[in-house]
Formats: sequence, C-alpha cells, structure tokens
Amino acid sequence: MTTVAEFFGVLLLLYLIECGAWIPRTSFGLARGRRRARVVHPPEVLGNQGSGWLTGDVLPWGSALHLLHPWPVALDARGLVVAPVLALDPALRDATEPAFVPWEQLGGLSCDGARLFRGRHAFAHAGTSARARTLRALLDELARTPVERRGVAIDDALRRGLDPDVVRERLKTFERLAPTVSVLASAHLLFVFGVAPIVVSRVGFETSWAALLAGLAAITLANAVAFVLAHRRLFPTEAATRWGLAGQMLVVPISAARSRDLLARDLFDGCDPVLVTALLGGADTRPAVLAALRDLAHPARPGERIADLDARATLDGFRARWRARLVEALAPLDVDASLADVAPPREPGALSYCPRCLMQFVARDVSCDVCGDRATRAFDV
Ligand SMILES: [Zn+2]
Repeated sequence: MTTVAEFFGVLLLLYLIECGAWIPRTSFGLARGRRRARVVHPPEVLGNQGSGWLTGDVLPWGSALHLLHPWPVALDARGLVVAPVLALDPALRDATEPAFVPWEQLGGLSCDGARLFRGRHAFAHAGTSARARTLRALLDELARTPVERRGVAIDDALRRGLDPDVVRERLKTFERLAPTVSVLASAHLLFVFGVAPIVVSRVGFETSWAALLAGLAAITLANAVAFVLAHRRLFPTEAATRWGLAGQMLVVPISAARSRDLLARDLFDGCDPVLVTALLGGADTRPAVLAALRDLAHPARPGERIADLDARATLDGFRARWRARLVEALAPLDVDASLADVAPPREPGALSYCPRCLMQFVARDVSCDVCGDRATRAFDV
C-alpha cells in the first residue's frame, strides 16, 4: 500500500509541476477568474534575477492564466538594443549593460524555441516560439528597410499588437472551446486522484490495474483529441507546438489534465501585454496598467545610468514611442493615461515621492533606490 501511496504522490508532484511555467521576469501573468483578474509575477524565492516559476490555478476549472510578453528589444531607425523595455516584476534585476547594434551589423538571426540567436549566441527571449519567429521576421525586414522608412515600420509593428478586436475575438473563441476541454480535464483529474485511489484501496492494485489503465488511456486520449481540435481553432499555424503538446499528453498522461491551461497560456501571443491587461482586467488591473505607463516613462534603470549613448537614446525613444501608441489604444477603453502621472495621496510628513513606484519620502532631495536611484519628485506645497 505504501508503494501505491508513493505512486500517487509522484503523480501529484508531476501534476503540480505541470501547473507552473518558467518565465522570464520581464514577462508576467494575467490570472483571470470569473469575477476578478489580477497581474501575477513569479515569487522572488522561486527563481533567479532573470527568470522565475509562475504557478497557475491548480484546478482545471479555476482561473485562467495568460502569459504576457513585453517587447524584448528596443528599436529605432538606426539600430536596436536588447534590454528589458518594460519591467513590472519587482524581483527583476538587469545587471547587463545594454549595447546598441546598428541594423547594418545585425547579420542573420535564427530561432530555437522562444529564443532568438545571433550567430551562435542567444540574443533575446521572445516568450514563445511563435513570437520569436515573428520578431525575427520583423528584425530582418527592418534591417532591409531604408532608414527614412524605419520609424513608420516600427510604429506599424507596435500598432499590430494593439488591436483590441484581435484580443476580443481570441477570448470569444477560447470561451467557446474552453468548457469542453475543462470538463474533460476535470474528469481526468477526478479519475486519477479520486476514482483510482478509491478503487485501489477497495479491491487492491493487482485486481484493478488493468481496468484503471484502460480508463486512464481512454480519458487521456479524449483530452488529447479535444486539446488538438481546440488548439487548431485558436492557433491554426502552430502545428508543431500542437502535436508536441499532444505527444507530451500521451507520454505523461497527467499533463492532459492541464489542457485548458495549455490553451490559455499563449492565448494572447502577439498581442500587446498592457492592452490585454487593460481590456480583460478592467478596474481590477487598472493599477498595473498605470504602473506600466509609469515604467515606460520612468524605467527601472534611468537613462543617465546607461553608458552607451546610442543604447540610451534607442531605449528612451522606443519606450516613448510604445507609450504614445499605448495611450492612443487605451483611450477608447476608458483608460485615462494621465492618471499615471498624478501624485499619490500624500501621507503625513511626506515631502516627495518616486514617479515610478509612488513610494513616499520624508525628505525632498532623495532618490528611490528601488527604482535605480531615481530622483524623487517634490509634492506641491
Ligand atoms: Zn521608486
């Protein structure tokens, strides 16, 4: 019996591992339940300074976790910089000095999963393999575009991610497909951690294993088929990812109980992460949207702390460009971007505040060490 209990313990551990994802700390999650939505980051202790382990809802019918990936590169007409452009996770520490790469010197890029490679060296992490391929195509195209037309091409690329109708359409399709996948995934979980242990404890493993194995095979297959059909509707061009995940379900059947989560994670691939957060989170995530707008205006590493002047100009310029396109896209969603620049309610004794994190200070000429020793802003007297 101890062996059987250990077996189910290992299964539970495998299941809990399947509930999480290892993500760059520049990315973040939007956990969307029936009533509330919130922006989530990997806990500081579960990861390192650049990446972390983010766990979703352990129940297949619980909140959906969407992984959102900001731009991993800053672009301008002369070249690009690989650096965190938007940094919302407080645990993110970016120690590398950003370097400017002129378009003429970029050379050939290749993709391996979610990573872009320049020659043999890892260049940038795009979050997903589909986004890595899209980014590589964009960078190749920008390198070929005449310098005077690159600014317009960069604006076009930003706007492509900022179409709210694309977000709404994907959500609608997901909501239509999710119930079937969710019911099958829940049945899978109930079978493995409810029916199977009860049957084994009542009639014994030797008597029941063949019937249980047949049941597991049937429910795993049903889950895999439902997943493949739903994935094809949501991501028609991602056949390799689809069959890879379906194969994983057949090899590690417990992963089939996460089929709804696997569909939800990359649902908004290619969509602007701040737009998705504003559109789906509503009032719940408005503070995170305003924090993103503040971060783009007052980044965690202030420009004056970047030695490479070209890198500094490119990062500042791209953040300003992204912020401007975001403000345009957010206005019809009733997001008042000017609220990002409003001083926080003043606490007793406070004389200044940090324009990025809004922390308050009892002196005027101080800096916020959480936000790259940024100079604070005095409260109006
Ligand atoms: Zn601060």
